Amino acid sequence: MSDDYRNMWKDLGLDLKSHDMLLEILGKAYQDIYMAQKDRPEQMSYFDFVMSEVHGLRIKELMDEKAAGRKIIGSYCVFVPEEIALAGNATLVGLCSGADFAMEEVERLLPRNTCALIKSTFGFKLGKVCPYLEASDMIVGENTCDGKKKAYESLNDIVSNLYVMDIPQMKTDPGRSLLKAEYYRFKEAVENLSGVKIDAAGLKKSIEIVNNKRKAIHRLYSLRKADPVPISGLDALLVNQVFFYDNPVRFTESVNKICDELESRIEKRTGAFPEGAPRILMSGCPMAVPNWKLPWIIETTGAVIVGEESCVGERGARNLTDDSGSTVEELMEAVVDRYFNIDCAIFTPNPDRFNHIIQMYKEYRVDGVIHFGLQFCQPYLMEAIPVEKALESKNIPVLRIETDYSMEDVGQLKTRVEAFVEILK
Ligand code: SF4
Ligand code: SF4
Repeated sequence: MSDDYRNMWKDLGLDLKSHDMLLEILGKAYQDIYMAQKDRPEQMSYFDFVMSEVHGLRIKELMDEKAAGRKIIGSYCVFVPEEIALAGNATLVGLCSGADFAMEEVERLLPRNTCALIKSTFGFKLGKVCPYLEASDMIVGENTCDGKKKAYESLNDIVSNLYVMDIPQMKTDPGRSLLKAEYYRFKEAVENLSGVKIDAAGLKKSIEIVNNKRKAIHRLYSLRKADPVPISGLDALLVNQVFFYDNPVRFTESVNKICDELESRIEKRTGAFPEGAPRILMSGCPMAVPNWKLPWIIETTGAVIVGEESCVGERGARNLTDDSGSTVEELMEAVVDRYFNIDCAIFTPNPDRFNHIIQMYKEYRVDGVIHFGLQFCQPYLMEAIPVEKALESKNIPVLRIETDYSMEDVGQLKTRVEAFVEILK
């Protein structure tokens, strides 16, 4: 790594020794999991580059943006509207929470039986290893599940710039009103942070930018319906993960480029996996970078993941925001409508999610569904049981997995996944 990067990380307050260790682990995992794949699309080289520079060049870009007066907003959830951040001259970045770090210190602040995602959020802060977190001018937490809601109270003691957004738990009129009020409050907070008043033209433009990013990824999703599948689930997951970090315009171009290549692969019947490979739909908790464990296990059995019913996947990106309004009020209504459709398991009841899983099952010509629940994640683990029942009632094979970020259960998971894939063959 260049001295420039090291100085940048030092200025951000990172613990260079721990950070070196993290980069080493990440680099090795990437080599073993990603680079070991065969028949990858050539355009994946862009995403390999992004990953190799995820703490380097991208952070440098964000620091340059900051120097030019732009603000950086870090977020942990797809309920934080990127459209509003962009319209207020701010860049929204996902704060990754996909690996265990500084666990001893974390468990001094959080109960042991907290989900790995929340623990990871704390670990990256306490271990001083996340440049995105340290570069953020505002960190947005959201009252989604109880774990996050209470954890933000403690996070507030260790970060100076936490903003907490309330999120409804029911899809009712009062629920929508709450979301609307919270999005207006967020708009005001972004305006105060950046000193930029959000106007209709700016909001319309930012809706267009974010919609374009979503349209590109929808295009990628639809190409995965082909058999043979032109891209592995691991590579598609990586694109979904980079969605949260990259410059949105460049990301859109890069996804469209890979889609062009995938179209020609489909024409030539070139697959990442042979025709007829068992097709898996993943459903459940989001998979933040670098949580690649379960997809890697699945795809090394010879099955291929063709879709993700997940926030790092279709649940997060599926709907567009209507950009036809011409006033701030009309466009804000459209933003609220778009996000109120997200079928996260924090909602009760949550029939839309069941319907979406079944719709994806049909559209992607899926052979079996693997439900991924993080240990101690109440909303998704609770919902996994009715999801399983709903799928079984339609004779759809389903495997319920509960795991965390450690590698201790790899052998056991492999055995279960292999047995499931055998049934699908
Ligand atoms: S699963 Fe729910 S809480 Fe988690 S990122 Fe998605 S919407 Fe947010
Ligand atoms: S994985 Fe579950 S418990 Fe953890 S933050 Fe997400 S919804 Fe909450």
